[in-house]
Amino acid sequence: MADIQIQNLSKSFGAFNALKDMSLQIDDGEFVVFVGPSGCGKSTALKILAGLEAASGGRIIIGGEDVTELAPGKRDIAMVFQNYALYPHLTVRQNIGFGLKMRNTDKAEIDARVERAAQALEITDLLDRRPKALSGGQRQRVALGRAIVREPRVFLMDEPLSNLDAALRVQMRAEITALQRRIGVTTIYVTHDQTEAMTMADRIVIMRKGVVQQIGTPDELFSRPNNIFVAGFIGSPSMNFITGTLARDDKGVFIEAGGLQLRPEGAVAQAASAYIGKSVICGIRPEALGLAAPGEAALDVEPLLVESLGSEAYVHFRLPGQRVAIPVAGEHEHEGRASGTLIARLYDVDQSLIGRQVRLAIKPNTSIHLFDPATEEAIK
Ligand code: ATP
Repeated sequence: MADIQIQNLSKSFGAFNALKDMSLQIDDGEFVVFVGPSGCGKSTALKILAGLEAASGGRIIIGGEDVTELAPGKRDIAMVFQNYALYPHLTVRQNIGFGLKMRNTDKAEIDARVERAAQALEITDLLDRRPKALSGGQRQRVALGRAIVREPRVFLMDEPLSNLDAALRVQMRAEITALQRRIGVTTIYVTHDQTEAMTMADRIVIMRKGVVQQIGTPDELFSRPNNIFVAGFIGSPSMNFITGTLARDDKGVFIEAGGLQLRPEGAVAQAASAYIGKSVICGIRPEALGLAAPGEAALDVEPLLVESLGSEAYVHFRLPGQRVAIPVAGEHEHEGRASGTLIARLYDVDQSLIGRQVRLAIKPNTSIHLFDPATEEAIK
């Protein structure tokens, strides 16, 4: 059993609080991703778990054992870093077996474990090569091999794919996920890339400025974000935010945007009744927008930019009447947009859209998210 309990973990560097009161329970065999912009404290949290940094406060319990004060070598954890320095003068086989040799493991046992790891990673035919004769992806697999042979209770991975090119990253991401599911070792994986988090994680821990913002499955974070930060960080391209005043008619609550009425439903509509007559921030995902049919209620917008991806395109529009700055869009680490613009994911459109007035409609059954402009918390 290697479940992990992180209890009120914190870390200060002088007066600076890099990690504030992190608490989290990770199940045995779970794949948890820590994600957030640069400097949010995710690597600091991982280093404390590995024992490479001392915590300023809080406790870490692995498999029922309090490891908070234990030396890194005694925690039974294997780490995979972004810089997977392999020994250039050793073969792949020797590189993978090196840690076991240092621990005086029996030679036959080392050979068997290296063989098993190589099979799992499909690098058996590379075992007698040296690192310089390997591609970047193959080297990354050898680095994973070094972690796997230790047969640890926990894997900690810090941006292990960030040195690889985009295509290889997609491939390795699938391989690591499949490998983890197969061997079932509890894993914590750190990345700033929300796509990696969404595609790999059983659960995501999203962080900002040392504070956990939300913990949940990829679907929970996407469908029910706790605040504007999470809503804007998860999903690509990111959610549109439109500011408006909440009103009510006989069909329920709505906010008016150009010719469109944005109507939240269910629990959101209920929670929103406290905001009637007040300003709210309304969130709509780019995929919820489409070109309006003739006669359909629509928003008249002017395309600024068409980013074509083949059959689909991300189209940026100027949003009439919107001048309010959304705080989250101003953050440099965020792929934020200028306020008063809107992104739609449209199909079968091209550059000829530029210069034309376009009518955008909201697709049926779209979730409208609402946020309090003062607290940035979701109204839900
Ligand atoms: P990145 O994706 O850029 O690696 P991160 O989320 O992993 O970011 P951390 O490396 O955990 O961020 O750093 C969190 C904050 O703590 C940063 O502001 C960083 O500058 C600060 N920090 C980290 N290590 C130290 C240190 N040894 N001394 C002082 N400040 C530090």
